[in-house]
Amino acid sequence: MTIRIGVLTSGGDAQGMNAAVRAVVRTGIQLGAEVFGIHEGWQGAVDGGNQIRRLDWDSVGTVLAKGGTVIGTARCAAFREREGRKTAARNLIANGIDRLVVIGGDGSLTGTDLLRAEWSDFVTELAAEGAITPEQAQRHEKLVIAGLVGSIDNDMVGTDMTIGTDSALHRIVEAIDAISSTAASHQRSFVVEVMGRHCGYLAVMSAIAGAADYVLIPELPPEDDWHQHMAEVLHRSRSAGRRTSIVVVAEGTKDRQGNPITAEDVRRVLADEMGEDARVTILGHVQRGGTPSAYDRWMPSLLGHAAVEEVLRGDREPQLVGIRGNRPHFEPLMDAVAATRRVADLIAEGRYDEAMAARGRSFVQMTKAFQKLSEAQPNHQATEESKLVGVLHCGGLAPGMNAAAASVVRLGIDAGHVMMGVRGGFPGLIDGAMAPLSWGDVEDWTPSGGANLGTRRTIPTEEDLYALSRTLETYGLDALIVIGGFNAYRAVRLIHAERKRYPALQIPIVVVPASIDNNLPGLQMAVGSDTALNIAVDAVDRIKQSATASKRAFVVETMGRRCGFLATTTGVAVGAERVYLHEDGITVGDLKADIDEMKAGFDAGRTFYLAIRNEEASPFYTTDLITRMFEAEGNGEFSVRGIVLGHVQQGGAPSPFDRINAVRLASDVMRWVTDELASGGTAHVYATPDGMRPIRDLEESVDWEVRRPVHQWWLELKPVLADLGREPKPDAVAGG
Ligand code: ADP
Repeated sequence: MTIRIGVLTSGGDAQGMNAAVRAVVRTGIQLGAEVFGIHEGWQGAVDGGNQIRRLDWDSVGTVLAKGGTVIGTARCAAFREREGRKTAARNLIANGIDRLVVIGGDGSLTGTDLLRAEWSDFVTELAAEGAITPEQAQRHEKLVIAGLVGSIDNDMVGTDMTIGTDSALHRIVEAIDAISSTAASHQRSFVVEVMGRHCGYLAVMSAIAGAADYVLIPELPPEDDWHQHMAEVLHRSRSAGRRTSIVVVAEGTKDRQGNPITAEDVRRVLADEMGEDARVTILGHVQRGGTPSAYDRWMPSLLGHAAVEEVLRGDREPQLVGIRGNRPHFEPLMDAVAATRRVADLIAEGRYDEAMAARGRSFVQMTKAFQKLSEAQPNHQATEESKLVGVLHCGGLAPGMNAAAASVVRLGIDAGHVMMGVRGGFPGLIDGAMAPLSWGDVEDWTPSGGANLGTRRTIPTEEDLYALSRTLETYGLDALIVIGGFNAYRAVRLIHAERKRYPALQIPIVVVPASIDNNLPGLQMAVGSDTALNIAVDAVDRIKQSATASKRAFVVETMGRRCGFLATTTGVAVGAERVYLHEDGITVGDLKADIDEMKAGFDAGRTFYLAIRNEEASPFYTTDLITRMFEAEGNGEFSVRGIVLGHVQQGGAPSPFDRINAVRLASDVMRWVTDELASGGTAHVYATPDGMRPIRDLEESVDWEVRRPVHQWWLELKPVLADLGREPKPDAVAGG
């Protein structure tokens, strides 16, 4: 008897739920199970009938780019009652379903666990009543469940991110960017209310990414004098030249007495304390809408895949399938739900530090980073003791470079340093193309694409080091911050190797990772890689739309040099059938097998085939050659297009995550530089989310030949891509 898995989405909808549903359906099929969609959340389980329907491979063929949930969601009062849950159990058993993957918020997951706990009683009762047969009772004596969190608030303890949060951040940051431009024209203040009943994640992160001036969140109710504090902070940034003020408020914010602080309250304070005619924008459901971001496609795909493996194993207590460090992370479901609910209690009890801590290290760190940036002293005057810190870029352009530069500059000024902006990378540094940057100089840098300081791939040669050290001496630079990609690492590696010959090189130097290729050591996402990924995904969405009429295959080439990150994550996020990587190489045998499979797919009625090729996957089998081979073998039965995405992947405004990542790394880096200068240290390091690492560590962690880290975390996405992209042949399905 084939195992049957039910999948449902419940509670509030969230972008990315569809990717999870698709992953559950296809992984289930891949592993020999049948998957049933339970439509309209628990209501569908209670109603039964046509609301519980088998989902086949193609039924989830075009859902990745869709917002909301294609199987519907609802709130269901009946399911809160025992009778309702018993009816749901009967309907599930009637369909042979005893494994469930539920995608919803803490309410939905609590309900799911209740059903699981009551299941065996229901089975006994239903059998006694004759509602199910003794065989059914025996076969389905227990219910196995796994939970995925769909919630734009990122309010679940036990996972780094919930499904939908990143997309919501995209919507909010788009809105704040738009508001900023109109606000700047009129010197106006805006109050932006974002979702988050108990959780300030969206507010804090959008305030950072949108370079807002002040944020109010539930976990940190402001002190009673918050009116004055806010006015003071806003005044300070105005006096440093800022033309606008933007305050972000999470909808659930309260003061320390438990009174709600609404956007309207904030507007009134701005009017009373500052004489400002502020405008209020309540984003509301816009935040749930739109196409899911790239992250909200590959992450739920990974988790849906893991959840199916979990329920098919079915050998442990119910798990929450969350994400930690970009890997599936399992935690006992009800422990996670209880810990989540506890946060609301902690807030109500005034235990704010504990509430913050429960949100995780990175949230605490980012909230502090925002406070530091917003409360910084913009008008620090340089003194005799001030240190000179040079900031430059090196390597290809990466969106978010400006955010990183602006943050180190502001935090550096706040720490009392003189921040020297070096124009044009290392050649500029050698030429002494540098000048101090003021607080106001980097205004508006965070949301902007490109690199305002200019970036060059050129790295100094051994011969250049003499000139470089002379410039460092002439200008009296005390430390250097190099924001860039692989060549930045090569440059600092060379400087480190030659430091004994040139005393001027014996100053603190740090590399901040920024590269769309994401081929840098010590971290999972370099600044810029998330934007490039979103651009690639958006482009492929359009390409797919253009192909609706006829049978067509596409070979799409992404950037990435010899690192397959962009190709692979794009492939997972858009549902590619095949991805070609330098890591794997390409053989003619591979291509033959792919062509056979593609042709079989078209013969069976498919109208679309998508292969993604990393730009340096093979020096021989180029995108053009593969396109022609596909075309030749197609014999006119389908058409083939090769598309090189090219440099568009480096352009555009940085994604929210890239801005946040840039600010996070910058704040760590600036703290390190300040400490190092204070202690007279002269270390050469590279930044990672877990702190600075010595440059000499690169020798072990980097493969210099192929310009990528020795260990690449995203390779774990390859089985997911393979399982979700290609339908198994009927005889290959275990038990099918
Ligand atoms: P979310 O899952 O987003 O937290 P809700 O709390 O509204 O959203 O829950 C969605 C649905 O899950 C409810 O309408 C109900 O059907 C079910 N549910 C929620 N909480 C419970 C509960 N304690 N017991 C049984 N079912 C519940």
